[in-house]
Amino acid sequence: MNAPGAPVELRYSVCPHDCPSTCALEVERLDARTIGRVYGAEDNSYTAGVICAKVARYAERAHHPDRLTQPLRRRGPKGSGEFEPISWDAALDATAEALLCAEQRHGAASVWPYYYAGTMGLVMRDGINRLRHVKKYSGQYSTICVTSAWNGFIAGTGRLAGADPREMAKADCVVIWGTNPAHTQVNVMTHAVRARKERGAKIVHVDVYRNATTEQADLAIILRPGTDGAFACAVMHVLFRDGLANRTYLERYTDAPGELEAHLRTRTPQWASRITGVPVAEIEAFAQLVGRTPKTYFRLGYGFSRVRNGPVNMHAALSIAAVTGAWQHEGGGAFHNNGAIYHWDRSMIEGLDALDRSVRVLDQSRIGPVLTGDREALMGGPPVDALFIQNTNPMMVAPDHNLVRRGFAREDLFVCVHEQFLTETAKMADIVLPATMFLEHDDLYQGGGHQHIMLGLKVVEPPEGCRSNHELICALAKRLGAVHPGFDMSPRELIDWTLLQSGWRGVADLERERWFDVQPVFEEAHYLKGFAWPDGKFRFKPDWAAVKPQGFGPQGATLPVLPDHYDVIEEANDAMPFRLATSPARSFLNSTFTETPSSVSRERRPTALIHPADAARLGIVEGARVRLGNDRGSTVVHAKLFDGLREGVIIVEGIWPNAAFEEGVGINVLTGADPIGPVGGAAFHDSRIWVRPA
Ligand code: SF4
Repeated sequence: MNAPGAPVELRYSVCPHDCPSTCALEVERLDARTIGRVYGAEDNSYTAGVICAKVARYAERAHHPDRLTQPLRRRGPKGSGEFEPISWDAALDATAEALLCAEQRHGAASVWPYYYAGTMGLVMRDGINRLRHVKKYSGQYSTICVTSAWNGFIAGTGRLAGADPREMAKADCVVIWGTNPAHTQVNVMTHAVRARKERGAKIVHVDVYRNATTEQADLAIILRPGTDGAFACAVMHVLFRDGLANRTYLERYTDAPGELEAHLRTRTPQWASRITGVPVAEIEAFAQLVGRTPKTYFRLGYGFSRVRNGPVNMHAALSIAAVTGAWQHEGGGAFHNNGAIYHWDRSMIEGLDALDRSVRVLDQSRIGPVLTGDREALMGGPPVDALFIQNTNPMMVAPDHNLVRRGFAREDLFVCVHEQFLTETAKMADIVLPATMFLEHDDLYQGGGHQHIMLGLKVVEPPEGCRSNHELICALAKRLGAVHPGFDMSPRELIDWTLLQSGWRGVADLERERWFDVQPVFEEAHYLKGFAWPDGKFRFKPDWAAVKPQGFGPQGATLPVLPDHYDVIEEANDAMPFRLATSPARSFLNSTFTETPSSVSRERRPTALIHPADAARLGIVEGARVRLGNDRGSTVVHAKLFDGLREGVIIVEGIWPNAAFEEGVGINVLTGADPIGPVGGAAFHDSRIWVRPA
């Protein structure tokens, strides 16, 4: 512990959580095992000293009394939560034996290593793929979050990269669309608000309900979920109609401006108003604002990913910047994610040299159908008999929860979960292994929402008994007879190798400098030398077939040729007259932070936001218990009357554990695991439901 009065030691790190902000952190190190407050690095030009409250109080999570520190073996029935402590050696032996046994019974493809973004560090998140590829286990198509939105963006630009996010501060209008950054990536607000303070910029928020971001906006557009494409088309209709389309830019930089203009003649504000619920006057006002403000910055978020027409909606929203020519200006253009600028060589971390493309790749979002033996989800291959899980909690976050639960309850399924807490998924496991947190190991990070390569070195020792993902993967590899040079390297060696092979400077430089700012030059980021297609043109007519990497979308889906309202959402009907979106709560991050008392007390309880007119019709009063249901199942929550959404729309922020709901069944009992077209994904904001007093 620091001597009284001595300055607190500050160490540098990076937030590892599933959030595009990827904040540069300064962490109080109180002693070899203890942290204090966590701050945002002032001198990182994107973080700019600001982080969210949940990470600022990270000590609560890191030093939580419920952290797992001891390997456990199931003693009672599946899901009973009855475990007995065992040694690491015994746990590793049991896991290896079960994986080998599954392999012998139905082949290597019956083992499914399953992971996601519980940490975004490249070494600790993606090392599981090295074991997968060397052992020829089933692949994972990681669709649950980004796939649909990314591919919608790439469909237009040809590349997953956009205008420097710091340029938001130089915009005259910032359009924040399909994201609630005040909850989910707070730094967007830092730069947007700076634009207003310093330049009098307008902030516009386009979302499915009024929330903390909307409170900071000058103009709010509240849509029915899944209707962004219709709204975007009507906006572009007005731009062409009123001479606000930049015809010089369109001719030079886009593929089919004439066809787009003709197509949009019928996509009037009146047409869009009927679909979106947005009044005609608001559509007109938005179009006039973005049409008359050359430096308009479109910050497009992950909300687009959560509806069945997500890629089409993302592409339609993105198309507005091409119609106005906003890309030409500093402070203008569009941004979603900078994944393409890092050009990583992941072959050592992920063992890509051992990748066998004939091995099946299963859709992560369809874990329910996969585990319950759906032949299509299994791609005609063997059943999954063994799951090895890191960095994700599918019992809480995966769609179609009843199927997921049924799958995990299979007596013939072996499950090993490597986790920080006894999550609802860990409770279904046969073997549970305690994992380190980000401040307890070394890792490499990239800013999804910005442009920094960042290094997070170990700050404190882990609790006795916890091992990092990398340690576990290497130890298992030994027992499974899996050989690859990556299993013999330290995390620091893997980081150095990856940096150098990817064309960057090595880890020693990164440690000294803390981050590399790898922002592409203005002309490249704004596509001034052409978009990333062979003809250099932004595509209003995407080649959807080309952005269909693995064919997980609905077979035979016909996507619109030009931006449009793609009418494949789970539209309300007489029996299920509401549309549900499961938007992110401020104090949780997916299932992370649902274990910290301060987050739980801030969020209170699972709550359905319902329009007062709908509530009156159903005889529902403030705070009443209501049952939400559809063909997949039902759950009970409390109602909050709220006029910041369209009638017929329900919002349940989360994601809360199943156990927080009075019947032990959470909100994902209502969401579907059918894939989004054309690339797959889970439609978390696109479920039709009924609502009844409980
Ligand atoms: S805003 Fe996002 S990246 Fe930054 S500290 Fe919070 S969770 Fe982490």
